[in-house]
Amino acid sequence: MRIGAHVDSTDPLAEAAARSADTVQFFLSDPQGWKAPKPREDAERLRAAEVDLYVHAPYVINVATLNNRIRIPSRKLLLGHANAATAIGAKGVIVHGGHVNAGDDLAVGFDNWRKTFAYAADSGGFGVPVLIENTAGGDNACARRLDALARLWDAIGDYEVGFCLDTCHAYAGGEELLGLVDRVKAITGRIDLVHANNSKGAFNSGQDRHDNLGGGTIDPELVVAVIRAAGAPVVVETPGGVAGQAADIDFLREQLGAESPAA
Ligand SMILES: [Zn+2]
Repeated sequence: MRIGAHVDSTDPLAEAAARSADTVQFFLSDPQGWKAPKPREDAERLRAAEVDLYVHAPYVINVATLNNRIRIPSRKLLLGHANAATAIGAKGVIVHGGHVNAGDDLAVGFDNWRKTFAYAADSGGFGVPVLIENTAGGDNACARRLDALARLWDAIGDYEVGFCLDTCHAYAGGEELLGLVDRVKAITGRIDLVHANNSKGAFNSGQDRHDNLGGGTIDPELVVAVIRAAGAPVVVETPGGVAGQAADIDFLREQLGAESPAA
């Protein structure tokens, strides 16, 4: 079982070693910005690493929106990140499900997702799996609750699409964690990655505020149960830097009976 953390992008392999992580996720550009990722000088080292790599796309990406000035650059930025993820040998690129604005038709948002995959296919494909992540908030989200997720998969399920399940987002978004993996897999057929986070916000609060696994409002045993059921690699996106994340990773390894990577 692969367990790791979201880390600073400067030297992800050093960050992995500091946490005894065999998996890391990081950004390839400013997560709040629109700049395309630059080629990395350490690409060869990253490709050769034993550590599994995941790229998190910027938060500004929203391929679902009806706003052209956001949607069109979002498509390009997502494709740019997928290409850059391919260049470093990453296992996938994670992108949030996005949303439409108040008053806009969510059906158009789902179709915009379909067009995103069609656009990528016309441009040579994404190169790495795109893992759509569930989100915590908003009333017009494509991947907050499972009813919307089912409609999203109706629109894009013919393409090769992966899914990243975030436990904080699910809980704060209003989905009970008990039995969630089965309900998700009934829609998506797969879970490629689990973001194992506790939640500072209450159930259905809509708040995207991650906490360490032993803190927060979620019973940590439920997070462990989700991971066990998903059978997918795990990334913690929790606070507390090296010490906080290493403790979360140790907790999960202990609970799951998983081995640490050889030093
Ligand atoms: Zn996440």
